[in-house]
Amino acid sequence: MRHTKIVATIGPATSSAQAIDAMTIAGVDVFRLNFSHGTRDAHAEAIARVRASAQKHGRSVALLQDLGGPKIRTGALRDGVSLALTAGDELRIVVGDAPGEPGRVSIPYPDLPRVVRRGDVLLVDDGRIALRVDDTGTTDVRTTVIDGGLLGEHKGINVPGVQLPSMALTPKDIDDLRFGVKSGVDWIALSFVRSAHEVRQAREALAQAGAPDLPIVAKLERAEAVARIDEILEAANAVMVARGDLGLELPLERVPRVQKDVARRARALGVPVIVATQVLESMRSEPRPTRAEVSDAATAVDEGVDAVMLAGETAIGAHPVRAVQTLDLIIRDAETIPRVERVPLSGGQLLTGHARALCEAAVTLAERGDATAIVAVTRGGKTARLLSALRPRAPVYAATDRPDVARRLALAWGVVPVVADLSGDVTVAASRVGGQLVARGDIPPASPIVLVSITPDLAPGPSNVLKIQRV
Ligand code: PGA
Ligand code: MN
Repeated sequence: MRHTKIVATIGPATSSAQAIDAMTIAGVDVFRLNFSHGTRDAHAEAIARVRASAQKHGRSVALLQDLGGPKIRTGALRDGVSLALTAGDELRIVVGDAPGEPGRVSIPYPDLPRVVRRGDVLLVDDGRIALRVDDTGTTDVRTTVIDGGLLGEHKGINVPGVQLPSMALTPKDIDDLRFGVKSGVDWIALSFVRSAHEVRQAREALAQAGAPDLPIVAKLERAEAVARIDEILEAANAVMVARGDLGLELPLERVPRVQKDVARRARALGVPVIVATQVLESMRSEPRPTRAEVSDAATAVDEGVDAVMLAGETAIGAHPVRAVQTLDLIIRDAETIPRVERVPLSGGQLLTGHARALCEAAVTLAERGDATAIVAVTRGGKTARLLSALRPRAPVYAATDRPDVARRLALAWGVVPVVADLSGDVTVAASRVGGQLVARGDIPPASPIVLVSITPDLAPGPSNVLKIQRV
């Protein structure tokens, strides 16, 4: 049993039905579709393949639609020829879409000359190229190359320390989101979030698209988001420590502290947290990761994050399936010595009342009673999310009669979603699920398991149940 979940990004290296199936078998819990890249047809095809593969293996696997957001990119280049930039060269950045050529590159974002100032540094192409601003005009920015390199087309630009007045949800994102809702994705990720307000706007857009309850991952990749982490954690359903852009927007050396701090705050509120980017980066080309990468992934496990994400490793890497297998092994080994830091749960909507008390009792009962599993009846998923927040050693089998709820729970630490028939008396239904898990080989026969079911009202009868029994 692996508690920490694996998110893997689908891309050109893994769009075939065979590759997706191999990744499902290797243990991917959540497949990410990156809407910064790829055509709609390609995404639709990947969605169908993920669904078919999950069905084939009887698993609840989630699809995460990652919206591109307001990332600024450089424009096209004349004849697609890359520009060789050397330190000391001058480079003009001109608003518009004229193809770039030696000494000049275009940018479609009209506000850039207004928001940057002499002395600001622009990081291009994941920071490979650095430019210093010398002067700004009304429609251009003159810069000097600090770190040179080969500049290709459509490369990202980050301006650390400068607040760009761009909304997290672009018109393209809204269009993509409607497509995602129609295609039945399970989670939406919002890029470059600045505030809780933007998360609520995305929720509004989801409601208009007919999916008011679709859960939202807020990607933390701006300094403003880190400064407003508490309000964002209140508004979002999960957060991602998006170390790629975060490592450009903040001083890179601060990222490990931010990751630790975000993990602690998110866990205290029972909000799932994903650690992303360059986890096994070297596996994009190499068959084995570096020692430092292995250590980094194991550290995320120790911090108790819900999931670790692979991006380029599986999207465009040479060893995508092996990257998933490697991450699976790293996580399993890190979990053999349970070092997950205990985080006291604070307030938060999820964590109050008799529901919390019953879940805490269930975890205690499982631990003291040596239960091999906790079986939770969880129609909407709340009980399972609460149990997950408590980080029990025993796996939480989350039985729900709603396949969509089961798929969303694929992201939650320690939760194994199970779609089951929950009709009739809840105690009977729960032990029936336990029996099915034994029959499936998930739980050893005759081992003690904890059964828990919680309903908000305190009606007479077996609505709130906590038991330990053998099945
Ligand atoms: P991206 O987000 O891969 O969509 O850029 C992750 C990150 O910035 O770390
Ligand atoms: Mn990013």
